[in-house]
Amino acid sequence: MDICALDVPSTEASVTDMLAPAGSIAEVDRLGDEIAELSAHLDAATARLLDLIRGFDAKGGWNNGFRSCAEWLSWRVSLDLGAAREKVRVARALGSLPRLAQALAQGELSYAKVRALTRVATPESEERLLAIGRAGTAEHVERIVRGWRRMDRKAEALDAARQHAGRALHVYQDEDGTVTVRGRLAPEVGALLVKALAAAREALYQRARVEQAEAGPADVSAETPTMEQQQADALALLAETALHHGIDPGAPGERYQVVVHVDAPVLADPDLPGQSVLEDGVRVSAETSQRLACDAGRVVMRHDSDGRLLEIGARTRTIPPALRRALQHRDRGCRFPGCGVRFGQGHHIRHWAQGGPTTLSNLALLCRRHHRAVHEEGYQVARQPDGELQFRRPNGWPIPDVPPAAGVPGDPVQAIRERNEAEGLVLGAHTATPGWLGERLDVRYAIDVLHPLAR
Ligand SMILES: [Zn+2]
Ligand SMILES: [Zn+2]
Repeated sequence: MDICALDVPSTEASVTDMLAPAGSIAEVDRLGDEIAELSAHLDAATARLLDLIRGFDAKGGWNNGFRSCAEWLSWRVSLDLGAAREKVRVARALGSLPRLAQALAQGELSYAKVRALTRVATPESEERLLAIGRAGTAEHVERIVRGWRRMDRKAEALDAARQHAGRALHVYQDEDGTVTVRGRLAPEVGALLVKALAAAREALYQRARVEQAEAGPADVSAETPTMEQQQADALALLAETALHHGIDPGAPGERYQVVVHVDAPVLADPDLPGQSVLEDGVRVSAETSQRLACDAGRVVMRHDSDGRLLEIGARTRTIPPALRRALQHRDRGCRFPGCGVRFGQGHHIRHWAQGGPTTLSNLALLCRRHHRAVHEEGYQVARQPDGELQFRRPNGWPIPDVPPAAGVPGDPVQAIRERNEAEGLVLGAHTATPGWLGERLDVRYAIDVLHPLAR
């Protein structure tokens, strides 16, 4: 079928003439050059922006109530969260990729190219990837990076399979009856073991401290065991615990359940004497127990002065299910400025143990991170007379829901140009033009030639 049946001028020149009346072709070209030149200026400025973000991130500048640098960025400069995450990722990556960072700073590579290249670049492959960035269009770079990644993944999968196949645990008994343990675990299993050993050591150490305190300070006969000895004790405790619980990881709901025993006066006023301990005897701060009690299942037990149990009440929820649904519906997510995590815990603005009512107006939904911020890190939240929440930093400074906009110079484009020129950058319409001459891109061939692991 003939699909070229429309009656249009057949040469390119005449199409351009139709779009741009005679005499203005030069003007259109000039516009194009201006777009290209300003884009190079913006890319150079983006490099500086990423430097600032990397420095801010490294100093933990966001760690004043925000859960990540990306969330802070999204709050402070109104980036959508995905774009903010990408900026932080690229900023971090460029910290160890000086050649790519420089190419962006000189307006030579666009941010889009650098963003793609930093997905796969390592200090070893940076030079080769920079050459790809210079030679190809943004689309070529994107395709080569995808191919590169496939090759990386293939190598990674081989690595993971090798590690998994190499897993082993040798347990053998010596003549004197001692048992020697030697093994090799896949990374994630190893991490699990290291974490479990640390938890067991912590429990043993804490327990030992409590016992020592009870025995009195005079007892110094027991020396602190070495790290190796502690590890051995921790492994023993893990084995004991596993057998005691019938090697059952439990339902998720139970697995993370935390039981706290708190003396009632401590909940109301952290300064009052009394104890708050986890079920295994580990002490927690009064602030932590207040947070855990803020939105929890609660069983009141009465003890006499000798600690004997007198009476156990029925288990109740601090916030009844209907009220919790209303709270979720009203707040929709964490109310901390810039957060918005969808699920959270009901926070009593005035704690129930201090007489605060469990009503909608005294509750605010906060995610786990921010619930900790208000209980344990000194952040404050209050409901104002107009019903709006006001959050404050530990030093009393308010945290606005939306930060004030940054001041922008009268002509921001001119300001960027002046600043780039002051840095000695000479940017033109062809600074970022790739070296591609129009030949077809063979991604498989390019990867075969360029990727260090390709054979
Ligand atoms: Zn709370
Ligand atoms: Zn939050």
